[in-house]
Amino acid sequence: MAKIIRRKTKTIRIGNIFIGGNNPIAIQSMAKTKTSDIEKTIRQIKELENIGCEIVRLAVKDSHDAKALRMIKRRVNVPIVADIHFDWRLAIEAIDSGTDKIRLNPGNIYKKDQIRKIAKAAKLNRIPIRVGVNSGSLKIGDRCKVLGVRENLRPKTYNLKPNTSDFMVQSALNYIKILEGFGFYDIVVSLKGSDIFDTIEAYRKMAKLCDYPFHLGVTATGSPYSGAIKSGIALSILLLEGLGDTIRVSLTDKPKAEVRAAKSILKTLGLGSFGPEIISCPTCGRCEVDLVKIVKDLDKKLSAIRYPLSAMPLKVAIMGCVVNGPGEAKEADLGVAFGKRDGLLFRKGKSIRKIPYYRCVDVLLDEMSKCVSL
Ligand code: SF4
Repeated sequence: MAKIIRRKTKTIRIGNIFIGGNNPIAIQSMAKTKTSDIEKTIRQIKELENIGCEIVRLAVKDSHDAKALRMIKRRVNVPIVADIHFDWRLAIEAIDSGTDKIRLNPGNIYKKDQIRKIAKAAKLNRIPIRVGVNSGSLKIGDRCKVLGVRENLRPKTYNLKPNTSDFMVQSALNYIKILEGFGFYDIVVSLKGSDIFDTIEAYRKMAKLCDYPFHLGVTATGSPYSGAIKSGIALSILLLEGLGDTIRVSLTDKPKAEVRAAKSILKTLGLGSFGPEIISCPTCGRCEVDLVKIVKDLDKKLSAIRYPLSAMPLKVAIMGCVVNGPGEAKEADLGVAFGKRDGLLFRKGKSIRKIPYYRCVDVLLDEMSKCVSL
C-alpha cells in the first residue's frame, strides 16, 4: 500500500481528542435529534460512541438547544461541537454550556463585532472554532471580492458556478483573517460543496494558504447509497493527497451509517483500523450458497462488537466458489471458500477444515477472537 504523506498542520484540541499534527484522522458525525430533547440526543450520541465515533456535532437552533448542551455534556464522553448559524449569541450560550468546539458559518455570521465576541469567549474557554464554509451559503461580499467588483455594483446575473471553489476559499480566508486579527488561532477549516470537484479544488487551494487542520466533507450528498459513494470519491482523493484531519460523511440516513461509511473510507486507504476487513466476492452463477446473507450477517454481528475485536486489523475473505476462493482466502488472515454446502476454512494461508454453510458466521467470529487473543 502506497504511503500517504499527510499535510503538516497545527494541532487542535477538541475536548479529549486532538486533530491535526500527527494525530489519527478523527471520525465525526452529527446527531439528527432536536438537541433540546436531551434524552433522545444522549441516546443517539451513546450509539455513536459505541461504534467508535470520536466527535459529535449538535445543531443549536435556539436557546433551549444551547442550554441543553450542559446536561448532555455531563452524560457523554465524546467531544461535543455546537453548530451555530445566524445568531451569534447562541455561540456564546453554547460556550457557556461547556461545548468543546463551535462551528460557525461565514455565510450567516459575518459581522466583525459578533465574531470578536465569539472569539473572545472561545479563547477564554480554550475551545476551537471551525470556519465551516458551505457552497450553499456563501456571502455575497466574498463572491464579489473574488470577482473584483464592488458589492453594490455587482452584476445582477453573474454566474456563481465556474468559481465556486475560489469563492469558498476566499470566504474561509476572510473569516480566518478576522479571527487572527482578534488573536484567535485555534481554528479548523472546512470547505464543503455539494459538487465534489468544487470541494476537492477548494481544499487543494486552501492547503497552500494555511496550516490549520481540515475537517473534510461533501455536503448534501443525496440518497445514502449515492451519498456514500460521492463522499467516498471526494474524501479518498483528498486523503490520498494527505489532506484531512477529521472527516464527516454526510448522509441522509442514521448517523451510525455515516460513521460506518467514514470507517470504510479510512480503512480502505490504510488510514485507520476499525476491525476486520471483509473481502467477499460479488457471487455469480457458480456460487451455490447464499453468500450475500453470510456477508450481511457477519457485517451486522461485527458492527455490534467493539473491543477488542474491533482493534484487530484482520482480513477475512469470504468467497463463493473455488475459482478465486482458495487464492483470496489464502491471502487473508482468515478465509472461507465455499463449495456446494460446505466451506473450506483457511487461517494464515493454510487450510484448516471444512465448515458447514449454516455455521460459517459463528465459526468465523470464533476464529477471529482466537486471532485477537493470540
Ligand atoms: Fe463467482 Fe466464484 Fe468468483 Fe465468487 S469467487 S464471483 S462465485 S467465480
